[in-house]
Amino acid sequence: MNFDLLIEELVTANRILAHEDVVDSFGHISVRHPERPDRYLLSRARAPDCIEADDIMEFTLDGTPVDARERKPYLERFIHGAIYEARPEVRSVVHNHSPSVIPFGVTRQKLRPLLHMCASIGHEVPTWDSGEHFGDTALLVESMEMGRDLARFLGAGRTALMRGHGCVVAGTSIRHAVFTSVYLEANAKLQMQAMALGEVKFLTPGEVDTIIARTGPFTINRAWENWCRRADRPVRALDNE
Ligand SMILES: [Zn+2]
Repeated sequence: MNFDLLIEELVTANRILAHEDVVDSFGHISVRHPERPDRYLLSRARAPDCIEADDIMEFTLDGTPVDARERKPYLERFIHGAIYEARPEVRSVVHNHSPSVIPFGVTRQKLRPLLHMCASIGHEVPTWDSGEHFGDTALLVESMEMGRDLARFLGAGRTALMRGHGCVVAGTSIRHAVFTSVYLEANAKLQMQAMALGEVKFLTPGEVDTIIARTGPFTINRAWENWCRRADRPVRALDNE
């Protein structure tokens, strides 16, 4: 995918996350720079549903803008650079405050996949608590030190909750990160509904692994095409990943 198309893909991802209620006025998605693995692309500080191609900025992994041109970056951009720094295979990162995940970050109840479409979230979603190493803060990831602590906690995982704040998702492409983010919110909502009815039978570890092995471009592009339509964005290059 050429650079301009990748920018358009990132704009589309922002619009989709907004339309699928994963982000509201806050939250963001980035992509690693296709030619410079030590850089990433992320919008200026703006609500995701409003983002245009000109809003997309380039950053070095420590969060320094390459050519800011008066554009104000997100305060929490360090989440993205710290994960790219720790995980060479990660190509896209989402940070959001999607409402249904929040209760799982502030209770002992573990968020775990219970629907086959949600296996992408991983076997279990652990919760990072900023207070553990940083004490009383505004809970925002405002420095590389905090970003690196979160990245260390995420380890090789795909998803982590952030206590009293939101969550983070690491994907191998923009579409993969969007797919996981949408189904993380869906699983959280369904898990609360199921728990209200009684004891929940979650997917087994073997089921999760089997489903993850089968979740490729065919599945992800089918969702992407539908979400593009709903977000009124053009569908591009369905077979490129
Ligand atoms: Zn946040």
